[in-house]
Amino acid sequence: MKKNDELIVLEIMEQRGVLFNEAQKTRVHNLRQGYKGELEFKKWYDSHCNKRWIFVGDYWFEFKARMQADSILISPRQWILIDTKYYDAAFEYKNDVCYINNVAQEKNIFDSVKEKTRRLAGIAAKVDTRIQVRPVVVFIHENCHTTFDASLTVEAIQRTQLARFFNSIRVVDEMPDSLLQKVMSQLEFYRRPYGFPVDALKPEGFEYVRAGTRCGGCGGFNVEKNRSGLSCKKCGRHESLQEVVYKHAYELRYLFYHHPEMVTVNNLYRLMNGTISLKTIRKHMNTNFVLKRQSNIWYYEINI
Ligand SMILES: [Zn+2]
Repeated sequence: MKKNDELIVLEIMEQRGVLFNEAQKTRVHNLRQGYKGELEFKKWYDSHCNKRWIFVGDYWFEFKARMQADSILISPRQWILIDTKYYDAAFEYKNDVCYINNVAQEKNIFDSVKEKTRRLAGIAAKVDTRIQVRPVVVFIHENCHTTFDASLTVEAIQRTQLARFFNSIRVVDEMPDSLLQKVMSQLEFYRRPYGFPVDALKPEGFEYVRAGTRCGGCGGFNVEKNRSGLSCKKCGRHESLQEVVYKHAYELRYLFYHHPEMVTVNNLYRLMNGTISLKTIRKHMNTNFVLKRQSNIWYYEINI
């Protein structure tokens, strides 16, 4: 499951020391928790679920309003909308209010789940009006303990109940190919691109970026150059120069998300703090990417 572009950009900014404000820090934290939750659920699906259930992950759609479904399990007569919460905390639901570590939350997460369910049911009905959409909220963090009172009307489970959940949906009809095609074409029809603007750097922000060459494994800056490439002093990973150049080119591309023309040999040299020569950078960039021209700037085109 791929991270969304916003998270990729913010994590690079964080690692390069250019996350400027608290809002960005909170945002990257929330996005990362959301991503971990989705990833964790996918792992459970892979190891515990009857594969007759078709998995659809991170689905952005617009059906009267724009929304995102973390995961959907699809069978001929039932779609299960999975909303994962990755709270490393105690969660309580009492008299229609959510509490995280005893602090009342303004937002009722179950209301948005109900709305998503209604919208998704609208899409399901385009396939077959008999399809039921069943929402399940999964509190997937291993440290999350949940308590619910009778006011809760949405199915909610915690991690320790997941094995039982997958067991309970073990028996399911097989999806005929023709129906699967119909489902996928409806989902595609309502699919929309990621719903948030990506808050990336402008070219003049380059001066605040921490320059240096980073390890492709642990992301640390503690790398050593040798004849065949780069070795990480922290995790021991070895990478060829070609890999290093390629990876940093992508990093530069994401960092200046709205400025593809920033991917130049000189900027890469600057980002890597001169670790690799201009000549070597140029050689590897020419092998991997197409050179483009925008007014008087030559840059390498990287599609993300
Ligand atoms: Zn490393």
